[in-house]
Amino acid sequence: MDVSGELSFRDSVDLMFNRAVKLMDMSPGLEQKIRVCNSTYTVRFGVRLRGKIETFTGYRSVHSEHMEPVKGGIRYALSVNQNEVEALAALMTYKCALVETPFGGSKGGLCIDPRAWDEHELELITRRFAYELIKRDLIHPAQNVPAPDMGTGEREMAWIADQFARMNTTDINARACVTGKPPHAGGIQGRVEATGRGVQYALREFFRHKEDVARAGLSGGLDGKRIIVQGLGNVGYHAAKFLSEEDGCKVVAIIERDGALLDPAGLNVEDVRQWMNRHDGQMAGYPDAKHVADGKAVLEEACDILVPAALEGVINKGNAARINAPLIIEAANGPITFAADEILRQKGVVIIPDMYANAGGVTVSYFEWVKNLSHIRFGRMQRRAEEARSHLIVEELERLSADQGLGWQLSPDFKEKFLQGSDELALVRSGLDDTMRTAYQAMRKVWHERDDVDDLRVAAYIVSIGRVAQAYRSKGL
Ligand code: GLU
Repeated sequence: MDVSGELSFRDSVDLMFNRAVKLMDMSPGLEQKIRVCNSTYTVRFGVRLRGKIETFTGYRSVHSEHMEPVKGGIRYALSVNQNEVEALAALMTYKCALVETPFGGSKGGLCIDPRAWDEHELELITRRFAYELIKRDLIHPAQNVPAPDMGTGEREMAWIADQFARMNTTDINARACVTGKPPHAGGIQGRVEATGRGVQYALREFFRHKEDVARAGLSGGLDGKRIIVQGLGNVGYHAAKFLSEEDGCKVVAIIERDGALLDPAGLNVEDVRQWMNRHDGQMAGYPDAKHVADGKAVLEEACDILVPAALEGVINKGNAARINAPLIIEAANGPITFAADEILRQKGVVIIPDMYANAGGVTVSYFEWVKNLSHIRFGRMQRRAEEARSHLIVEELERLSADQGLGWQLSPDFKEKFLQGSDELALVRSGLDDTMRTAYQAMRKVWHERDDVDDLRVAAYIVSIGRVAQAYRSKGL
């Protein structure tokens, strides 16, 4: 427990688990087996930098190996600690089960301020950290497959993949040891946008169910909905961009490290991000919106959908009662503490839980891993065959129309879309959309059909714990 009386992140996740498992018919032994974190490896290593040896502390935690490989990102932040990594690893187990990616749950972290080091130094540090994990099979295509998380991205994943390849020169599947790589280094189209895209697909699916929308006291579709986004990192940026550019949402506030930008008419997300890129990550000074220094207070402003997309615990005992949004979608991992969740539910707020809402990242990671193991780009075999078939239909329709003097004209827009075979990006988005819809439906079924379940988080836990339990049982445990 910390000074504010808030439980630790891991305790918070465990309590959420307990709340759900109580409603399931499970033996205490199996319940305990699923809840606990299998192992956490701590490594301290030195790297010679700027003329002296710097020591770093890193973790790789494996929560559940009911399926292998285990999966989960690697986070770079000064705040990384064992408790956090274990909580995040547990969330990976439940997330993977919910969206049916065939992985156990894992997570890694390195205590480092990535802004304090230049690119070359970060490469040395990353390679050394990767070396320590690879040596122990904590990075391995068949056993443990990391991915990006806060503070890491394509660049770090490419270094890790290369480090693995150097240490496993004859492993034909070496590239599948990590996901989130850049497309030119074995990555997949659409991985960078995937988590934000998943948030968009999750909201679209939620708004397809009028009954669910009504539970949040909202009506209509996404068009015109006022959104507040906290965190304009990879997840928040993509979610806010897609929702405003493609679904008609108005991003009325963006909260970042240095305060918040507000515009009731809706901010231009791309513009704000470009401004931040040019100004060392700062929003202050952005000319087309009001800037306030107290970002925390903006979290409590009225809106239709609140999107916490940064750190865990930002909605806690201290501010939950003042949150003024009927619908919250947890784009980050663990942004609402257990205590805050209780307060918000009593207020009738509908929460789309993290393990579902941000599962787009690991879903597309799964596609990347499969691509690496199959050694072929998605769509390569069938794209032109698909196009040839569409051509046949269009030509036949046009011939019939001419022969019979019907005068049919296919609109150029329809023709263009119909004649286009699916490339990798289109297939990835289609697979992600299907995954988000299917997982939502599994969750909502429990939410609606069981009298003892009145929120989506418990429903999500029930679905995923049930699947993990099934996997353990079929292994004879
Ligand atoms: N770090 C991301 C998450 O928390 C992605 C994990 C992955 O792709 O393996 O879900």
